[in-house]
Amino acid sequence: MGANAVFQYNNEVRVVNKALQARGESIAELLASVSVEPLLLYDDVTLNSHAEFTSKQKDIVFATVVNEEKIPLTHYLDFKNRYISQIKLAEDSVDIQPVVEQLKNNRNILFFETPVIFEGKKLAYAWVGIDRTPYEALARRNMFEIIAVAIAVGLFVGITIILLFKYKIFRPIKILTRGTQDIAEFRFDEQIVIPGQGELAVLADSFNQMRLQLKKTIASRNLVMQELSDLNESLEERVHERTQELQILNSKIAHEAMHDPLTGLPNRVLVTEQLQQTISHSQRTGTSFAVFIMDLNNFKEVNDTLGHPEGDRLLVDVAQRLAEVVRESDTVGRLGGDEFAMVLPDINEADAVKVANKIHEQLLPSFALDDHSIKIGASIGIAMYPIHAEEHTALVRLADVAMYEAKKDKSNICVYKTDFDKYSPLRLSLMDYLQTALDTEQLELHYQPKVSLTENRVTSVEALIRWYHPELGLIFPDQFIPIAENSGLIDKLSDWIMEQAFKQWRQWQDAGIDLQIAINLSARNLSNPDLPEYVAGLCDKYQMHTDGIKTEITESAIMYNPEQVIEIMSDENMQKLRFSIDDFGTGYSSLSYLKRLPVSEVKIDKSFVFDMVNNESDASIVKSVINLVHSFDYSVVAEGVENLETLRMLENLGCDVAQGYLFSKALPVDELIAKIKTIEDRFSANS
Ligand code: C2E
Ligand code: CA
Ligand code: CA
Repeated sequence: MGANAVFQYNNEVRVVNKALQARGESIAELLASVSVEPLLLYDDVTLNSHAEFTSKQKDIVFATVVNEEKIPLTHYLDFKNRYISQIKLAEDSVDIQPVVEQLKNNRNILFFETPVIFEGKKLAYAWVGIDRTPYEALARRNMFEIIAVAIAVGLFVGITIILLFKYKIFRPIKILTRGTQDIAEFRFDEQIVIPGQGELAVLADSFNQMRLQLKKTIASRNLVMQELSDLNESLEERVHERTQELQILNSKIAHEAMHDPLTGLPNRVLVTEQLQQTISHSQRTGTSFAVFIMDLNNFKEVNDTLGHPEGDRLLVDVAQRLAEVVRESDTVGRLGGDEFAMVLPDINEADAVKVANKIHEQLLPSFALDDHSIKIGASIGIAMYPIHAEEHTALVRLADVAMYEAKKDKSNICVYKTDFDKYSPLRLSLMDYLQTALDTEQLELHYQPKVSLTENRVTSVEALIRWYHPELGLIFPDQFIPIAENSGLIDKLSDWIMEQAFKQWRQWQDAGIDLQIAINLSARNLSNPDLPEYVAGLCDKYQMHTDGIKTEITESAIMYNPEQVIEIMSDENMQKLRFSIDDFGTGYSSLSYLKRLPVSEVKIDKSFVFDMVNNESDASIVKSVINLVHSFDYSVVAEGVENLETLRMLENLGCDVAQGYLFSKALPVDELIAKIKTIEDRFSANS
């Protein structure tokens, strides 16, 4: 309606304008035609009265006659007219021309001009101005009236529709929604009421029916659920019972797999497991522990004379007595036959021996068997972690070796010593294994730092060989180097060691690490005529410069055949090597040889160093060796430096280089460089 009103308004304005146009034109023409005569007669009064008459009409603002120059020839203006009354005229002015000009340019006034013609000649112009504002105002008022009516009708219709919706649709929908919510929250008792016969009322009806149906369904479902949950509960109970039975069975099986059925003691499997756990515990805590292997001395006789059942009873009794002696944290197990094993965590060697003695005493009283009272002795072998071995199979093996030793010399109790292996059956098999070790990469070089006390840094490392046997575990060189020396394998082994050391040296050089590597050569190596050539080949292959590799040869190896050693050391192929006399002080060398040897270093044997702080005679030997070696201009290395007091004493005595567990044990390559750094950092922190 609004749009229509605007459209009509525009239309009306156009029509009014057209009508005014026609009216204006005809009035101007009329004025022109009546003005001919007065103009010809120069009758100003009549001319003026025509203008006045025309002007008097309601919508005419002005009417005037102007000459060709547009100068008014009449002088009448209706000063009551609202447009004219606004224009200020100069006082006593009779000139109406400026007023007419202004009126002519007013956009609210429609202006008309018609020429006054007589016999084809233009005499003047008739000007008429019509005020169009009243017509436009009328049209506008019409338009606003229509719009007002439109708004009033729209409002009325809108409000009626809203009210209709509210009561007929929204309210019932709200009721329905509340009903659905009730059902969603399992409230079924509230009836939905929508008055009337409409579709929503029908919907409410079916909704109510559905509600009742649902109520019934849910009630029966709840019943079923309850039954189901009862069933479930009893099922779970049964599963739980079964699981417990199975667990008991499982742990029984596990126990049987781990225990000796006769004595109930841990069997070999469990002992091994305990041993491994104790090793990790000791690694963490840095403590030592003991492994005992024990067997009964006359068990075979008991078995043979009294029969197996009595033998078994004896074993059970022994097991009982053993269990009475040990601590709760200790493990007592039966490995098989009359062989028992014990693992005693957190114990040193002295205390371990005490415990072994207690076991021995515990077994002394006679055992009562089948009306017999018999005495039975036992032999106990002891191996200590970590001094004797760091690995479980090795520990058991060494304890076993010690046990044989105890049996052999009837000492009852024996702690493992390195020498034992020389006589043990293991020695024979090691020889076979060593060949395989060389071929299957079971060997590895570890490196122990040699610390320069004049430069306060690690200038060199000693390569020490390690053998990781897949069954026997870690085997130290003292156990297999002598075998290699006796079996002729030593040349092959030393060749391998030298190649590894040269290769390592080259790798470090390339990585910018300047470390001299010392390797150990055996006496047998020095009598090998191929050695110099082999060394020369390695020097070439790895472009080794002088000072890169040092060779340690024990004093006793040198004294075994000094002339030959001097010859080989002087061979031109060996000139790039440096030489060191190892284990000095144990080989009774004569001063004359010492002077002739082309060596640059002497290592005082660790047996003098270990206790030099407490043992005066050791200290004086170390002191005189240092002075003697310095008098030959060789440098002195003290090995086996285990504590700070020893280091201080060596420094005071002017020792050049120290090596020992105080700084580091021999380490695999990948741990070495970091270790060297900590050693050197400690020095710089102390300086
Ligand atoms: P060695 O040449 O006198 O080597 C020093 C031995 O003393 C090394 O034992 C080293 O681990 C140990 N040691 C170093 N510092 C200390 C310390 O502060 N306290 C104690 N208690 N011991 C310390 P390892 O490695 O068991 O070597 C034993 C021997 O086996 C060596 O004695 C050497 O004679 C021989 N050996 C080791 N590696 C080789 C090798 O590659 N070739 C040859 N031919 N013999 C080797
Ligand atoms: Ca050495
Ligand atoms: Ca040595």
